[in-house]
Amino acid sequence: TDPGAARPFGDLPIRPELAGEHPYGAPQLDVPVLLNVNENPYAPSAEVIATIAAEVSRAAATLNRYPDREFTALRDDLRAYLALESGACLDELAVWAANGSNEVMLHLLQAFGGPGRTALSFAPTYSMYPEYARDTHTRWVTARRETDFTVDPARAAAGIAEHRPSVILLASPNNPTGTALPLSTVEAVLAAASQADPDTPAVVVVDEAYAEFRRAGTPSAVGLLAGHPNLAVTRTMSKAFAAAGARVGYLAAGPQLVDALRVVRLPYHLSAITQAVARAALRHRETLLAQVDTLRAERDALVAWLREQRAPDGRALDVPDSDANFVLFGTFADRHAVWQGLLDRGVLIRETGPDGWLRVSVGTPEENAAFRDALTHVIEETK
Ligand code: PMP
Repeated sequence: TDPGAARPFGDLPIRPELAGEHPYGAPQLDVPVLLNVNENPYAPSAEVIATIAAEVSRAAATLNRYPDREFTALRDDLRAYLALESGACLDELAVWAANGSNEVMLHLLQAFGGPGRTALSFAPTYSMYPEYARDTHTRWVTARRETDFTVDPARAAAGIAEHRPSVILLASPNNPTGTALPLSTVEAVLAAASQADPDTPAVVVVDEAYAEFRRAGTPSAVGLLAGHPNLAVTRTMSKAFAAAGARVGYLAAGPQLVDALRVVRLPYHLSAITQAVARAALRHRETLLAQVDTLRAERDALVAWLREQRAPDGRALDVPDSDANFVLFGTFADRHAVWQGLLDRGVLIRETGPDGWLRVSVGTPEENAAFRDALTHVIEETK
């Protein structure tokens, strides 16, 4: 290490692999149009707020006690929702939850990763994955996605055979590309994991944070859980349920996999308030999910519009199909200039993904119109 380099942690005995690290997170700026972190743009309705307030008030009366450590009622509600949404039978399966699917994922790495072990994913993908690996001392490797961001089953199998991971992370729909995987790819990964290690196949995690936004004909991997004790499908209430602020993520898997997560969780990790808010939001499932249809229609319109645009240098924009509530588009010779130009016009999007690409979250029709208007101007000005 360069002795002249900044030492942001002073003389503290920080773990060497954390020495140059920054905390994860996109800028939280106060601008009119926020389309940068794939939030749901619709704030809870008065009716939803009233239910949440009543349930929180009930929970407040018990705050001298620790919450239900096993959050049994919330698990039952999540299981019922997931069975309904995916159409799969979850009778033999277990459900787990934590403070965002971020924490669910950390539990997975704590239980199944660790020193001397490897987590494998397919780049470009969610940029928090390497952090879970780092924080659990798990070796992090990526195989690559194809140029259209699909995962080639043969390349995936070769990567699994080469790296022999104990955890495989498959985001579908993937962030930042928006692309979902066909179930045949998930099945091929499960088969490759069994082939690489027939006795203890890797845990295959399908991260379905954006599942509710998928287009018709894209099935959820929840249907594959029966018969695959090493498969876990994670979900979140942050996106479709418009409850990012509540911090609730969950997964479905076989009971043994969930028992392993119970070993590594902190006791009482889901507060009584969190459990109350999540259950109240689930009661308003129909109202909250009705907005998903609007967002999907807006997303499809945004994809179509972006495909008609040209970068400042005249090349047509490339826009992968999106099954999520955001759209990746590019490429730009100077993506930072485009990002900054949009910000100067009050529209915050995300400078992420492979070189030259930008990602925009789907907002309300008004916000999407503001984005289209700003992008048209920025492209014109940077020609
Ligand atoms: N997985 C993916 C692919 C994501 O994009 C995100 C959020 N950006 C998460 C998981 C985590 O979401 P949360 O912790 O809010 O559930």
